[in-house]
Amino acid sequence: MQQLISIVVPVYNEGDGLTATFKVLRRFSHRLTQYQFEFIFVNDGSQDNSATLIEQQAKQDSRFKLINFSRNFGHQLAITAGLRYAGGQAVAVMDADLQDPPAVIGHMLKKWEAGYDVIYGQRERRFGETWFKRTSAKLFYRVLQHITTTNIPVDTGDFRLMDQKVVRELNRLGEPDPFVRGLVSWVGFKQTAVLYQRQERKNGVSKYPLKKMVALAMAGITSFSTLPLKLAYWTGGVAIVTGLIGFNVMLFRHSWQTNSLIICSSFFLSGIILVNLGLLGSYVGRIFNAARQRPRYIIASTQGFNQLIAQSHN
Ligand code: UDP
Ligand code: MG
Repeated sequence: MQQLISIVVPVYNEGDGLTATFKVLRRFSHRLTQYQFEFIFVNDGSQDNSATLIEQQAKQDSRFKLINFSRNFGHQLAITAGLRYAGGQAVAVMDADLQDPPAVIGHMLKKWEAGYDVIYGQRERRFGETWFKRTSAKLFYRVLQHITTTNIPVDTGDFRLMDQKVVRELNRLGEPDPFVRGLVSWVGFKQTAVLYQRQERKNGVSKYPLKKMVALAMAGITSFSTLPLKLAYWTGGVAIVTGLIGFNVMLFRHSWQTNSLIICSSFFLSGIILVNLGLLGSYVGRIFNAARQRPRYIIASTQGFNQLIAQSHN
């Protein structure tokens, strides 16, 4: 029997390019006749004719499906919804603008057949994007990798292929403001990369203005690191030490000028306040971790247990 592969495509005002995307996807599916495909387009509250175009395509070809959001909920939630409706044994996520070429999904499928559960597209080069976008993205992924314990690979977006068992785990998570690429890393299983060259956008403009980019970066940092909450510890520590050094210098010189005394005292006292804020931050971080309600662990497989016991725990 042919295996079903789902391809999830978030769409926001992509009317200019959708016809080309449909065509490329149809051609792609003709080349891979060993699989059956379903193309899940999630219309994220587009104000243009995107929804109508997808509806028309779905009428002509039942492999094309539409999920229509009531308004713009954002790229990450569009992907999240698409994953929930995806019934394939493997599920790919790609942009509607053909910046991530579907041909790469062919390479991903080979790795999936070889036993990998998550195959993410890692950008080797990016064409047609501004210097600011390339540099800020590069910097962001490197900073994120330093401040979190989850191993989120650098230079990867949401372009990836996942086994259904990974998707099932993702579907169990109910985070209100998900950072999907981070959650996929967090879920685990056998993950690997496929290098690719990110193409220029063929039609329309980027739907990620600076404001959305910053919001995505903040979702990434705040959902995978509590370090910012604890930063006050370090600044507080530095302030206390600076204050103490000042006091020692005064002691050594036997000069107790009022000005110096006030400056050193304020360093010392604000240091104490900051350290306490950091302490509070640690507790808030723990509450935050608990509030996200991620499962505490995920079991990939077990051995030697009675089948029924193993199932009832899953
Ligand atoms: N997108 C979306 N909702 C949004 C913004 C973007 O569904 O609020 C979709 C968009 O149509 C595209 C994908 O997410 O398919 C990535 O967006 P875009 O190509 O604008 O981002 P970039 O490639 O410039 O980072
Ligand atoms: Mg794009």
